Order: sequence, then C-alpha cells, then structure tokens
Amino acid sequence: MDWEDSQEQAAFRAEVRQVIQEHLPDRYRSADGAGERAWEFDRKSDDPEAREAADSWLRTLSERRWVAPQWPYEYGGAGLTPMEQFVLNQELARVGAPHVGGSGVGLLGPTLIVHGTDEQKARYLPPILKGEVAWAQGYSEPGAGSDLASLQTRAERDGDTYVINGQKIWTSGAHAADALFLLARTDPEAPKHRGISFLLVEDIRQPGISIRPLIDMGDHHYFNETFLEDVRVPISNRVGEENRGWYVGMTLLDFERSNIGAAEGARRALARLVRDAHSTGRPLPPVARLAIAERYVESQVMFQFSLRIISMQNRGLIPNHEASVAKLFASEMSQRISLTATRAFGLHAQRWADGTAAGRATDSYIRSVPATIRGGTSEVQRNVIATRGLGLPRG
Ligand SMILES: Cc1cc2nc3c(=O)[nH]c(=O)nc-3n(C[C@H](O)[C@H](O)[C@H](O)COP(=O)(O)OP(=O)(O)OC[C@H]3O[C@@H](n4cnc5c(N)ncnc54)[C@H](O)[C@@H]3O)c2cc1C
Repeated sequence: MDWEDSQEQAAFRAEVRQVIQEHLPDRYRSADGAGERAWEFDRKSDDPEAREAADSWLRTLSERRWVAPQWPYEYGGAGLTPMEQFVLNQELARVGAPHVGGSGVGLLGPTLIVHGTDEQKARYLPPILKGEVAWAQGYSEPGAGSDLASLQTRAERDGDTYVINGQKIWTSGAHAADALFLLARTDPEAPKHRGISFLLVEDIRQPGISIRPLIDMGDHHYFNETFLEDVRVPISNRVGEENRGWYVGMTLLDFERSNIGAAEGARRALARLVRDAHSTGRPLPPVARLAIAERYVESQVMFQFSLRIISMQNRGLIPNHEASVAKLFASEMSQRISLTATRAFGLHAQRWADGTAAGRATDSYIRSVPATIRGGTSEVQRNVIATRGLGLPRG
C-alpha cells in the first residue's frame, strides 16, 4: 500500500497549506488554547480583534466553499472527493484551525439535506454557510443521555404551533448560538422511540428560553442548561414526520468521521510534549520516556484508523462500528497523552494552567476528560463495537 499523496492530492495539499499560510488569523495559529468552538465564541466576542479573526477566517473558507466541504455541491459543499476532503481536514487539523459553522455544519445541515423539505433547506442552509446562524444541539436531558429516547421535554400542539416545555442539559455553546434544534416528546403514550419529534427553534433568545451556564471542571464556560417554558414554534419547523423525530435525530450524517482531527491533534500534543521535555533541561525519568514512546505508537495507530475510514468512504461505504473504534481510541488516546505529559513533569504538574509546560499539561488533561463522554460515552462505543462490529449478543 502506498501512503504517499497522488500528484493531484499533493497539489491540493499544497493549495490548502498556502491558504492557511496566507489567511489563517494569527489568533488561531497557536490553536491549542483556542479550542474547537473558538470561531463560534469569537464571532460574538466583545473583543473586536476576536470578531475580526472569526470574520476573516469565515471569509477565507466561504470563498472556497470550504465551510461545509462535505455537503453535496448543490447545497453549497465543495464538490471534493472523499480523499480531498480528508486532505483538507488533515491540513486544517494539523495547525489546529477552528471549525466554522459549528453544529449547523456538522449535524443540522446534513440532517436537513436528508430529511428537510425544500423550503427548510432553502431557509436554513444558506445562513449556516454564511456564518450568520450558529445552532446549538438540544438532545440531552438530566435523565436522558446515553438512553436518549427517555427524554421528557414535551411539545404539544396548539393550532399551528407546538408549545415546548422541558429542560435540556450540556447544550454546548448555547450562550453563543442563535438557534436550537431539539428532540421533544410529541406522543407520551407511544413506545419511547416512536413519540419523539425533531423541532427547530429559530431564535434561541425568544421568550420562554433561559440559558444557564455550567462551568466545567477546567473552569471554562462551554456548555449550559437550557430551560424551555411555553416556547412556541410553528409546525412548519418540524423536520420529518411527527413522532418520527428519533430517526431524523439519529441521521446526523457527519461525513467527517475519520477523526483525522484527533490523529493530528495527538501528533501536535506529542510534538509539544517532546519540545517541553527538552526545555526543562533535566533528563526525563526512564518510565516517562517509555510512556511517551508508547503514546507515539498509539498516535500512529490512530492515523491508520483514520485512513481505514477514509478508504471506506472512498468506496462509498458508511463507517459504522469503525467510526466507534476511531472515536473510542481517539478520545482515550488524547487522555493518555495528556496524562503522560503530567506524569513526565511529576509534582510540577500540580501547578495548573500557570503558563508553564507542566501547568499546560495538567490543563490539557482536564480538557481531555469530556471527550470520552460527549457524542456517546466510551461504554456506549464499546457496546456498538461488541454488538454491531463483533456480532456479540446484547446483555
Ligand atoms: C463536552 C460535552 C459536550 C456535550 N454537548 C452536548 C450538546 O451540545 N447537546 C446535547 O444534547 N448533549 C451534549 N452533551 C451530552 C452528552 O451527549 C451526554 O453527556 C452523553 O450522551 C452521556 O450521557 P449522560 O451524561 O447522561 O451519562 P449517562 O448516560 O447517565 O451515563 C453515565 C455512565 O453510565 C454509563 N452507561 C450508560 N449506559 C450504558 C450502557 N448501556 N452500557 C454501559 N454503560 C452505560 C456511561 O458510559 C457513563 O459512564 C455533551 C457532553 C459533553 C461531555
């Protein structure tokens, strides 16, 4: 097998690198601190420099149709082959450039493309691509996470509107979002998967919605609790049929499933760890050296998982348990890398986020913890691999 780029891929990679070189705002160049939602938060920031960086990066990507490159061309996608998309995502991830468009690009857009009416596609897709509307995802509830179908938020019909009441939790970026897509129960009598509808709340600041910050253990405001009290949305804001929302909500065809971002993130984190280890001027304890070598091997394995998924996509196959393998491995690997970093610094790693290499390692470990929970916990991924991948009977 030849891992080298073909001539066309090499030319495309060079083009992407040049665009990054010329247009990625300085703010995003040392992107490890920026975080994946940097664009969403920056566009609403009080700091004019942050807003300008978000606008300028948006312009750069939109001019090339690279905001949602994975969408079909007719809806504003880039018309790239899966391999070119992979190269684009790899190069953006290599420098840690922030995603533009948030959940609208990765989750809602692909769902509307499959299940939305022509009017819904015309109304909602262009503002996502133009960076005008960022969507938050209202799925999880205090009593419904892994077992999402147990959700209790109600949407009752009143004439030609739904009236929504309930509570969502862990709504990432809701405080910087403009709109909210959610799952709500429209038939409480039906079996739990069959009484749910997928609804669009176009204005997240409309009366009846209150958003309360949840501060994570790294002291960051990333997600929120979202309360809905008599929130009205027109019936035309339902995606798909009434009570069939579970199947709509599960579409979430994020075509970028290769997790190449995680593989590149691991490479960046390891390169930094090696740099930081040198900068201390002290020899590393042998056990730390061996652990770093092991993490290096794992980052190479992760890269192979990404290639396996992209090779499936190239053949028109949709990765299923393979995507779970990549998600599980990537999220646990990123925790192992930052844990290895904290151990390499020993007691110095007790200084948290103080600007030193040791403090950075600890901060990155704390930031890496939620990765094994979001988007399906590690246990849920292992269940998928065991049942769908290995055909083991369910317990
Ligand atoms: C950073 C982050 C961002 C998030 N953003 C959003 C968002 O924007 N919108 C949104 O709707 N949600 C969001 N979530 C919520 C996320 O989807 C849920 O946290 C996740 O699905 C797990 O649900 P839970 O927290 O209720 O845990 P639970 O489902 O209660 O799980 C608790 C524990 O039990 C285990 N467990 C549960 N079921 C099984 C099983 N069948 N077999 C074995 N073990 C099991 C789990 O693995 C876990 O260890 C986010 C979460 C995080 C961490």
